[in-house]
Amino acid sequence: MFSNRSLKSSPSSRASASSRSSASSRSPRRAKSVALLATTAAAAALVPLSAAPAGAAPAGTAAGAVPNAAAGYAGSCPTAGRVTQGYHSGHDGVDIANTRGTPIYASGPGTVIVSGPASGYGQWIRIRHDDGTVTEYGHMYERLVSTNQRVSGGQLIARMGSEGQSTGPHLHFEAHSSTSSTRGMDPVAYLADRGVRLPCTPGTPGTPPPGTPAPNFNTWGTGVRVREDARLNTAVVRTLSGPTPVYVECQKVGDMVEAEGYRNNAWSRIPALGGYISNIYIDHEAAWLPGVREC
Ligand SMILES: [Zn+2]
Repeated sequence: MFSNRSLKSSPSSRASASSRSSASSRSPRRAKSVALLATTAAAAALVPLSAAPAGAAPAGTAAGAVPNAAAGYAGSCPTAGRVTQGYHSGHDGVDIANTRGTPIYASGPGTVIVSGPASGYGQWIRIRHDDGTVTEYGHMYERLVSTNQRVSGGQLIARMGSEGQSTGPHLHFEAHSSTSSTRGMDPVAYLADRGVRLPCTPGTPGTPPPGTPAPNFNTWGTGVRVREDARLNTAVVRTLSGPTPVYVECQKVGDMVEAEGYRNNAWSRIPALGGYISNIYIDHEAAWLPGVREC
């Protein structure tokens, strides 16, 4: 089903991609690929792949910009388990219970601002996300991140425990509007706004926020990284575990990526995932996607 992807090289590198494809492991599909190459290359040559004039770039797509202003960030499931206590006047978070050692994941991309012992919690972690909100994780048996560490959404940060004031292994999860907030928000609503409904299954992308246009492409491959920008040195905001329907809002030229036997320097911006993925991982034969504007 992926035969069309043999052409997934950027126009600027099509010569080298063409020669490499002769060594490709996808030999049964070679004939079709080569037959189509000239057509695609010619069509692609009509598309200006060099960066647009600086003045033409829409606001908000500058390097490092993260499309999170309206929807926060695209959430990730913090841990698997049963919700054993919700948010109420005497409980500032939600409790998710499972066996000791159950993996706990960052609910979104951000920076670890606290990782250490804490009274009551035994051990705790706080993450400041890119939208300014803060999530808090308590009672862990083991912490796997340190203060000032950058984490991606869905990154393993700890293992569930029953440290501190706790009657059994569970994650106490809080969500705060900012680092100065003293009273948490309802984590169920907070996560739902970011596409995660409790109880949840780690490793599955959240439901896109309301108002997100219908998917226009699918990704392929496993472990596909979504980055803050179309640059390999920008943070990974999340990792796709498998093929995922996505709405590609726009595309732009960024760092050249060599993967899966292809070379491509075009990247797709996917607002619901909070970043960019290399067009290599968009399931379409063209290196520069037709019908998608330049960011
Ligand atoms: Zn609790």
